[in-house]
Order: sequence, then C-alpha cells, then structure tokens
Amino acid sequence: MLVDGYTYAHEHTTIDLSSLKKTEDTNLNLFDETVEEYKKLYDKGVRNVIDVTVRGMKRNPDYVRQVAEASGMNILQSTGWYQDKFLPDYIETKSVSELADMMIKDIKEGLDGTEVKASLIGEIGTSKNEMTGRERKVFEAAVLAHKETGVPITTHTTLGTFGKEQVAFFKSKDMDLSRVVIGHVDLTGDVDYVLDLLKEGVFVEFDTVGKENYMPDMTRVEMLKRIEKEGYTDKVFLSMDITRRSHLEAKGGMGYAYLLDSFVPLMKENGISDRFIEKMLKENPNTFYS
Ligand SMILES: [Zn+2]
Repeated sequence: MLVDGYTYAHEHTTIDLSSLKKTEDTNLNLFDETVEEYKKLYDKGVRNVIDVTVRGMKRNPDYVRQVAEASGMNILQSTGWYQDKFLPDYIETKSVSELADMMIKDIKEGLDGTEVKASLIGEIGTSKNEMTGRERKVFEAAVLAHKETGVPITTHTTLGTFGKEQVAFFKSKDMDLSRVVIGHVDLTGDVDYVLDLLKEGVFVEFDTVGKENYMPDMTRVEMLKRIEKEGYTDKVFLSMDITRRSHLEAKGGMGYAYLLDSFVPLMKENGISDRFIEKMLKENPNTFYS
C-alpha cells in the first residue's frame, strides 16, 4: 500500500551486482548515505519507494526495513528473480510451480524469514533482444504467483528491448495487463514503441532518469511530451534506478533528488503539464499499487 505523496517507482535501496559487474561500485550498501538521501526526498514530498530488488541481487529485506524506519519512507519490497545472467542454477531444476510457491511464500509469509511481506513481483527480466528459457520459466512462475496473490508484476527490459514480447507473453497467459508495468522503456528512445505498449493497457516506467550515458534526458522529455499529446498519461511512472555508490550525492553522484530538482523543471520548461507530472509521480503509482 502506498502513502499519499510522490512515488519513485523503480529503485534498489541496497543491491549488489558486483559478482558479475566486477566493480565494488555496484555493491550499493551505504546505509547512512541512503537514509540521508531518502530523508531529503521525504522533505520534497516523496513518501514511497518501490524497491524492485529480487533474488540474485543480494536483496536484504531487514536492511531495507531499517532504512524505511530511519528515513520515514514507505518502501515496498519485492519477490522474484532478475534477468538470465543473475539467475541461480536452481531455476533449471525446480518446477515452475515450485518457483511460484517460493514467491507466494515471500508475499504471504515474509521475505527470507523476516516479517516483511513482498508487495510486488519483480523486476523480473528479459535479456537484450531475447527471453531465455530460464527467464521464461521465471515469467511463468510470476504469473502463477500473481494469480494466486493478486500482487502486481514489474519487469526489467534490457535497454528497453523485448517489451512487446513481454506484453505478448502476459497476454498469452490471460493476465490483466493493467496489473503489469514494463520497466526501462525510456531506454528505447522510441516513443512509438512505448505508445504501442501503452495502447495494450500495460503501465510503463521512465525509470532511468538522469542516466544520460544511456539516454539523454531531453530524449525522455520529448518522448513524454508526445505521450501527453497522444493522451496516454494514466499509465506512466518515473524513477531513477539508482544502483551504484557513485550515483549517491555523498559519492559525487547526482543523487535521488535529481529527478525532482532537475528533471521536473526540465519537463516543465519543455511544455509538459504540471498535471501529467503529478500523475506520473503520484496518481498513477497509487492506482497500480493500491
Ligand atoms: Zn532493471
């Protein structure tokens, strides 16, 4: 459940991808610095962070709960698995229903033996331009867990690829597409592609705001402008997907507040309405996560 206020829809309070990325920078576990930044967000009206950290990213539900307590932020936590290269070997040996049961347990009983219950499934992911067999298994299990519990599904697309195939997959499973959000669609740089997704009825995330090495923010703004012009303002969320120590202000990065302090003004200057901005930050996530 969300608290009344702004929502960052795709973040990782703590995440460790260093086993594959081979740099300690991708082991984000700076408790005090993160609490400081979440407090700063709170002062700017942010009340919710959707934490999409799943198994294989060294998720740590108790750590996240402590950050929530220390910062006042409402943080929703998640269950599931990520894209292929981060999947554990047992994805192959366990059945789809066994994998679903693991997620259902996280949702109904608590994550990793804690009292914290998962409020969402994902980010479950596909690789660049493909859905591997193991990823398909995770997606199948996620649909079962969703149908059993009703919690929504959030996805990872690698650089925005395979969003349409993800939607086709969920359609083939008779999923209610308004219970699915497709992640990282801003990285396509292709607004027609994103509009096609929106026309199917899914939610989408512009969740890598500020990552200009992947996509200039002006491209994000131009895409959002078109989306507003076409009238698809009800199903878009915003976030930054901060995953590295060097993204934090204390480490010289842009920090979580960049979205509100820089990207929101950039949207306004370029003609995106206050109304649409409010919807992306508040009403749309409220609809999805209530
Ligand atoms: Zn992702």
